[in-house]
Amino acid sequence: MPELHTEIQFLKGVGPRVAETLATKGIHTLEDLLYYLPFRYEDRINPRTIEQLQPGEMASVIAEVRTSGLFKTKRFPIFEMTAGQGRNRLKCLWFRGGYLEGKFKPGALVALYGKVEYSTFGRGGLQMLQPQFEILHEPPDEENGVAALESEEQKHFESLEIGRIVPIYEAAGKLNARWFRRTIRKALEQMPEEISDAIPAEIRTRVGLIPRTEAFWQVHWPDAGESFADLLSARTPAHQRLIFEELFFLELGLELKRRKARLQPGVAFEIGDRVRDALKQVLPFHPTRSQKQVLKEIAIDMAHSSPMRRLLQGDVGSGKTIVAFEAATVAMQNGYQVAMMAPTEILATQHYLSARRILEPAGYRIVLLTGSLEQDRKRNIRSHVARGHAQMVIGTHALLEDNVEFERLGLVIVDEQHRFGVMQRMKLMRKNSDVQPDVLVMTATPIPRTLALTLYGDLDVSVIDELPPGRTPVSTRVVPGERAEEVWEFVRKIVSAGQQAYVVYPVIEESEKDSELKAAIKMYDQLRKEVFPELKVGLLHGRMSADEKDEIMRKFKAGELKILVATTVIEVGVDVPNASVMVIEHAERFGLSQMHQLRGRIGRGCAKSYCVLMTGGKISEEARQRLDTMVRTSDGFEIAEKDLELRGPGEFFGTKQAGMPKLCVANLIRDRKLLELAKREARQLLDGTTKNVTPEEKRMAVQYLKMHWNRRYGLVEVG
Ligand code: ADP
Ligand code: MG
Repeated sequence: MPELHTEIQFLKGVGPRVAETLATKGIHTLEDLLYYLPFRYEDRINPRTIEQLQPGEMASVIAEVRTSGLFKTKRFPIFEMTAGQGRNRLKCLWFRGGYLEGKFKPGALVALYGKVEYSTFGRGGLQMLQPQFEILHEPPDEENGVAALESEEQKHFESLEIGRIVPIYEAAGKLNARWFRRTIRKALEQMPEEISDAIPAEIRTRVGLIPRTEAFWQVHWPDAGESFADLLSARTPAHQRLIFEELFFLELGLELKRRKARLQPGVAFEIGDRVRDALKQVLPFHPTRSQKQVLKEIAIDMAHSSPMRRLLQGDVGSGKTIVAFEAATVAMQNGYQVAMMAPTEILATQHYLSARRILEPAGYRIVLLTGSLEQDRKRNIRSHVARGHAQMVIGTHALLEDNVEFERLGLVIVDEQHRFGVMQRMKLMRKNSDVQPDVLVMTATPIPRTLALTLYGDLDVSVIDELPPGRTPVSTRVVPGERAEEVWEFVRKIVSAGQQAYVVYPVIEESEKDSELKAAIKMYDQLRKEVFPELKVGLLHGRMSADEKDEIMRKFKAGELKILVATTVIEVGVDVPNASVMVIEHAERFGLSQMHQLRGRIGRGCAKSYCVLMTGGKISEEARQRLDTMVRTSDGFEIAEKDLELRGPGEFFGTKQAGMPKLCVANLIRDRKLLELAKREARQLLDGTTKNVTPEEKRMAVQYLKMHWNRRYGLVEVG
């Protein structure tokens, strides 16, 4: 009898070839296969008859193939298949459906799922466009003159595919939904009745989890009475059980990792009167209540001998930089060096300039290291850092290069964390071989705390949840491109009142770099020559050299340029309080978080600020929602939530980037409540505060985690 950890290739009907295909879906063992859940279900208990179909509805129909064939239209070939029940017909169309030729043999029984609509071609009636389909039964083989004999097994499976709720799986290579259905069914039938459950009984009872075996059965082959809505939204007891399980072990793994990190030797910075005086000296303004609070949290971490791993979250403009500089001051006062990494040269340069303004008067030596510096200069700076002559080095990815060495690195600061991968952060951390430097990462992506803790696994979280005083809210409007004249008139008015403006062009996509760049450049020429001939207009984009960029930013900051035409290079960090207008062209093409970041560039001074979202061309429903959200709120939290909702967590965080394992059952957004619960339970288990859990049970849970989840999710070195 196969065990759950049996390698998949030893399962009956699965050879090495199939195993290879399954591996691409992360399926290596029988247990992995059982975790391969249907992405939807089809109600074939009472499939609709063609006669019952109503235009506009999603429906599944089981019917017989009558005719099929490819016909050419002017633009592309369309494959048409007509299915029938008695005298009723349903037409199915697939655009560019050449690949379907020969698939539908007359007389075959097919299940179809799709949206029903009025026929667009031919003589009226109903049709389905691009329906999903499955051939349930091939017609008798006429060439041999005898109907192919069916094995008992064959019949057994066919009876599973009609007259019940049927699971639909995502195909993998040549393995279609039907293959999965049969193979998983077989696996379930062979599964031992009692399978071990690594979640301690006490927790199972408290959370209300159904037994594992039952969950596996029900999630793949739900009973006929199961709520269809619950199935589709993963809210059945079976789903909830498996989701909790996944989240529980994920959280357990992260928590173990976090605890292990705390045991490593770090620097215990001394924070005495001398340091406090130094801090007071560098602070250029009264910190907000939030800033004080997070600084306190950071100071406690820094004073502790275990290495700090802290995420500082705060909306754009909330004043994270100064907090970072204060942390830097603590390290430098203790005789350690600080490395601060920013995602763009513009931002690194800006940090460098403010660091010099704020920290240099106190006697600290600060250097800038970016990729575009000349070789000689870089070498020179590197040697300063290596010999300990520079106490703080601010830079871009260039800091990660192997030849950058420190004399005594004590603190690593990573600004705009979401732009970097976990690996990059680690690389910087390893630049001190004696102790683990403290790490402070900062992000303006305001995500719920539990989610942050999960996504950034090993980090503790501090939040700045207020803006410095004196900010005026930005008023935001959506204006169609046809009314550009009015917008420019408005910009002219604001500029003549002494303020400055940004005009932003869409992202430079790798693949369309050139065309996008041209758009910004073309726009720049037009604005400069035709629209604002009397004003100084500058251009900034990612392909300019660092010197050119610096020069433009300097001029804009100094007010020599009144209008800055830019791509999203200004998205992060740029801080020019006198700029109070931002026009975003083709706003429908920007992501929500991105627009929020961009808008964060204005509203930094005392003048009233305006953000104009100009649209051009077609606006999708999703884009409309993004624009509406921008107009409705400037609350980073709300915007992030909406963004998550619209895009899903994978894209929102760039899952791989964030070093986040791909979950197979759970969805961090949809299942947020369960995530909190799982986290709490995992913590309590490790703390030993869960009552009625034996040490043996605890050991088993950790053991299971190591065996199954390390392999699956690569939570390196747990335990
Ligand atoms: P972000 O959190 O987006 O990185 P910054 O650190 O760039 O924000 O701060 C935004 C602006 O607010 C800067 O000009 C900074 O000098 C200013 N600022 C930060 N903290 C305060 C404060 N407590 N009082 C007044 N101004 C502040
Ligand atoms: Mg910042």
